[in-house]
Amino acid sequence: MKIATVIVDVPTLGTDKEFDYLIPEKWIGIIEPGMRVAVPFGPRTIQGFVTGVKSDSPFSNKLKALKEPLDITPVLNKELLELGEWLATDTLSFKISCFQAMLPAAMKAKYEKRFLRINKEHNPFLDDLFAGKQEISWKKAEERNILPALHAEIKFGNAEVVYDVKSLARKKMIKVYQTMMVNAEILTLLNSLPSNASNQKKILEFVLKQQADEYSAKELSETGAPQSSIQALVKKGVFSEKSVEVYRDPFEHKQFTRTEPHPLTNEQQEAISPILDTIECEKYETYLLYGVTGSGKTEIYLQSIQKVLDKGQEAIVLVPEISLTPQMVDRFKSRFGDDVAVLHSGLSIGEKYDEWRKVQRKEAKVVVGARSAVFAPFENLGIIIIDEEHETSYKQEELPRYHARDVAIYRAKHHHCPVILGSATPSLESFARAQKKVYHQLTLSRRMNNKELPHVSIVDMREEMRDGNRSMFSRELHSKLADRLEKKEQTILFLNRRGHSSFMMCRDCGYVMQCPHCDISLTFHRYTNEMKCHYCGFNTFVPNTCPECSSNHIRYFGTGTQKVEEELYKIFPDARVVRMDVDTTGRKGAHEKLLEHFQSGKADILLGTQMIAKGLDFPNITLVGVLSADTMLHLPDFRASEKTFQLLTQVSGRAGRHELSGEVVIQTYTPEHYSVQFAGKQDYDRFYHQEMIMRKVGSYPPFYYLSLITISHEDLMKTVSTTEKITKYIQSRISDEAIILGPVASPIPRINNRYRYQCLIKYKHEPDLKPTLHKVLEHYQQQFIKEGLTISIDVNPYMMM
Ligand code: ADP
Ligand code: ZN
Ligand code: ZN
Repeated sequence: MKIATVIVDVPTLGTDKEFDYLIPEKWIGIIEPGMRVAVPFGPRTIQGFVTGVKSDSPFSNKLKALKEPLDITPVLNKELLELGEWLATDTLSFKISCFQAMLPAAMKAKYEKRFLRINKEHNPFLDDLFAGKQEISWKKAEERNILPALHAEIKFGNAEVVYDVKSLARKKMIKVYQTMMVNAEILTLLNSLPSNASNQKKILEFVLKQQADEYSAKELSETGAPQSSIQALVKKGVFSEKSVEVYRDPFEHKQFTRTEPHPLTNEQQEAISPILDTIECEKYETYLLYGVTGSGKTEIYLQSIQKVLDKGQEAIVLVPEISLTPQMVDRFKSRFGDDVAVLHSGLSIGEKYDEWRKVQRKEAKVVVGARSAVFAPFENLGIIIIDEEHETSYKQEELPRYHARDVAIYRAKHHHCPVILGSATPSLESFARAQKKVYHQLTLSRRMNNKELPHVSIVDMREEMRDGNRSMFSRELHSKLADRLEKKEQTILFLNRRGHSSFMMCRDCGYVMQCPHCDISLTFHRYTNEMKCHYCGFNTFVPNTCPECSSNHIRYFGTGTQKVEEELYKIFPDARVVRMDVDTTGRKGAHEKLLEHFQSGKADILLGTQMIAKGLDFPNITLVGVLSADTMLHLPDFRASEKTFQLLTQVSGRAGRHELSGEVVIQTYTPEHYSVQFAGKQDYDRFYHQEMIMRKVGSYPPFYYLSLITISHEDLMKTVSTTEKITKYIQSRISDEAIILGPVASPIPRINNRYRYQCLIKYKHEPDLKPTLHKVLEHYQQQFIKEGLTISIDVNPYMMM
């Protein structure tokens, strides 16, 4: 007897454990750990992951048998199965969510229900419904509104429901025609064809000329012959037809010119040598590669990867989604060609699935991708690189709430290989760890060709206002813009989107239009002429008069990119502007097209939000303007200063990376703030020291760890009292050294009619905290489901709202 232990696709606490299933005789030896299987669960058939195979079980006499394997080879190897278990414990998530997070979306289960007719005797209802067929889909029954009637038939035993588990994944197949005749035979056939079979003749002549073993359907149809002629020749034995799988190639239309490694500068040489040693002796080590933009970090990544490939090992490179620009991908594709697989959200589900399978089949050796690429199923990893390691997008904000950096370090320890964290503005946590020698710091202090950092001027917008300039462009930025347009040099204008949505306010009574379901103001959308809530999707028409006092002095505040664009055309009617924001980059490939347009010199000004802040490397940019530096500073988030500093520094780094030197103008209402000041001087070290003092005073990371618990419910009193109870319980289980803030209302106290309360725990060393939080989940599980409460626990939160 062989028994499989299975984690089932039911993400609840009660089912977050291994279930035993009998392996049917015919699957013994075939079913292995890491495979997905279809298993009966209650009345349904669902997907599960096999975690082990064993010979006996305490329940052996009443075990159900699993139905069938859904994979031919395991999709999770032993390392990834263990990683899943660890991740579940570490982030307080369900094991099934962790396993699913490691696989491309295409492999998530899709459940289909259909009805099977059992009793074939005459029955008007069933005769009509099934119309001679043996089964119908659930959807069809639902459309015809006959589900209750069908249920009755099921009770009588006349029909039954069948649950199918399918993968969303579809392999792309094409038809291939293999030549089955030698030339002489083809010639004979050609001569014997009647004169009206001109299409078949065309194909045979083509085949005689090409002399290939195989032809795709596309090739044959290019002769002008229709599909029916091809089929006729298949019947005559000229071809044998078969279906073969092809990969969807998102880069099909692109050519990559091979690049050679640059000879390294002395500074690069010094930085790379410990990395190469670590790769050579197969040790674990985390390096923090700290170097300003343009200092040659990427070249170090490329050459480290080369070493890994030479040793026959594999590499993972993580880049933030937002900087997975074509430029970044190009650099890896040009160096390593088809060895590179790319995983990011711009690909279709099918494309992602194909890229993932290239890795699984060992056809790719380097993965470049966003956060979840850290789970790439390599078995012989030689390096993991995280570029722009300070980016908060490396933290997943839904279950499992993991940070890619932690996963990278876990995997590197398993594989005995280095992790490289690269940044010009490292996260405070990472830099502090490097100071304490937990990470090994490597520094690149100079830009390539010793190019100087751009000159930065900080403009006080309050002063502009006082001097009567009410435009969104300061006088300095205005004159520099004019100068660049004159010289035909390019400019980037950056608008901080966060905290910058446009809202509606009445100038007479101060009324601001709010979402009726959330405690947040509605955003004005010019193109659709709507007021929208970005949290629950509520939308309404734009009022002409104030709903509160009927005044018609209504104004829209906030500077959206559209408004800046309009303003630009007013001042510089001849300027050619490319606008990049969520509105203009919605369609697939739009991002790439806009950038190409700008790069080829067809535009003078690139105007955009966060998405233009990183990774761009264009030679002709000599001016960067930041329209308002401080919109993010006032968010209720202890990382606000850090994020502002990082963003300003990154944006400034876009100017003058090549022959032409660059200038930056930062407009701000708080020029005295240290984030703005030190970003202006590109002085990370002083920013770090100042920010560390603030963090120490506020008891925030890296001095303390954080865990955030958020409770929500439709009833305010219930929300408050539950949060109180949970807070008290946690307090009783951990030491006095921990600081507990709360219960307090969350910064956004209501979303979608649900009130939100939270409790924030700050601590240095609390080994009992995680078990306690797990107990909270366990203890409240039933009550929470029954009463409609939700709880979220975020260990090491990045979103404090
Ligand atoms: P970063 O990743 O730190 O922003 P890059 O690796 O992109 O820096 O380097 C900046 C520019 O300098 C790139 O155009 C790159 O091709 C070039 N470069 C990097 N290293 C060298 C080198 N050793 N010799 C010549 N050019 C180099
Ligand atoms: Zn009013
Ligand atoms: Zn809302």
